[in-house]
Amino acid sequence: MGLRPLGEIDEATAGAILTIDLAALASNWRLLRDKVQPTECAAVVKADAYGIGLEPAITALAKAGCRTFFVAHLSEALRVRAISRDCTIYLLNGLTPGASDALARSNIRPILSSVPELEEWASYCTTQGTKLPAAIQFDTGINRLGVPADQLERVRPLLDAFEPALLMSHFAESEVVSPRNARQIAAFEKVRAAFPNIPASLCNSSGVFLHERPFLDLVRPGYALYGGNPTPNAPNPMRNVVTLQALILQVREVAAGERVGYGGEWSAPRPSRLATLSIGYGDGLPRAGTAIGRSGIEAVMGRRRCPFVGRLSMDLSIVDVTYLPDGAVRRGDMAEILGETIGIDELGRKSGTIGYEILTRLGQRYARRYVGE
Ligand SMILES: *Cc1c(COP(=O)(O)O)cnc(C)c1O
Repeated sequence: MGLRPLGEIDEATAGAILTIDLAALASNWRLLRDKVQPTECAAVVKADAYGIGLEPAITALAKAGCRTFFVAHLSEALRVRAISRDCTIYLLNGLTPGASDALARSNIRPILSSVPELEEWASYCTTQGTKLPAAIQFDTGINRLGVPADQLERVRPLLDAFEPALLMSHFAESEVVSPRNARQIAAFEKVRAAFPNIPASLCNSSGVFLHERPFLDLVRPGYALYGGNPTPNAPNPMRNVVTLQALILQVREVAAGERVGYGGEWSAPRPSRLATLSIGYGDGLPRAGTAIGRSGIEAVMGRRRCPFVGRLSMDLSIVDVTYLPDGAVRRGDMAEILGETIGIDELGRKSGTIGYEILTRLGQRYARRYVGE
């Protein structure tokens, strides 16, 4: 099993509880599948399924009907293969030097993104006397991985040695309306024209919501599956997957003018009631979310939004609950940091980062509760 077996940290011993709704995950996958059909909908599960836990995620996705998974590292691919013998697994970070044998043994397909990678896979297949499947990634504008457009003809002579199973490219800014998206679509059309009859894939989560609908043969959503908003300038069409609740350790009264937290960066503007929570940057909350001058992150307590005050500590945070009715929050209650009210996109934005980073940094010391299996 995975790095974090279920129940490793139980709720009675943890400072905070992370609840992962696997029914919402499956429902998000089905929503995308229905939107793109008859195009195949795969799932990107790199970085421990964006932090929610690889094994529970792929089990739920496979049950919903997902057959193709994308991971970044070989170590992740092997974890997927240990759970599912027959799914298709693509390796986003491609063929690292000398890894062909390990990939072939576990039936893992590299995404070949440069001529040297293509040559290494082709030569391995020739030596083994078998044409193994692989994807080929072309660069259409992100300049990260992918064969550059001016090297297409260097790819052609290598195609006979293996089975080119998928042509791929990746958007640089599909979450916004930009002329660059149409340019990337056009550049990828040229690639497809040069290598006809090979299935093709261009879309990440946000690509699925582009008006051009460049779905082709397969889409590769990640973020939207986990509840992230693929359309940041419009309401989120996805269901919330992640709920994070932290234990309230104490509620205290402070006088006007009292300085709060390390460095006393916040001082009480009036007599205040503060709740101290058992969660901090050591749990993956961004300390930058409580920097002076930011709009500031909030927690939901007593069904209301309450602002964090003072600098976030490693294991602790402080929330201003002055305006909650007397007795609305008590020692031992839970405060909601992430959930239906405050999602990963909002916490990311208010912390000067993105929801993707909030997800993939979800801490290692939460009690993890998987629901909706
Ligand atoms: C991470 C990744 C995806 C998934 O992107 P999301 O924005 O999370 O949907 C798709 N394709 C490639 C190449 C990726 O690296």
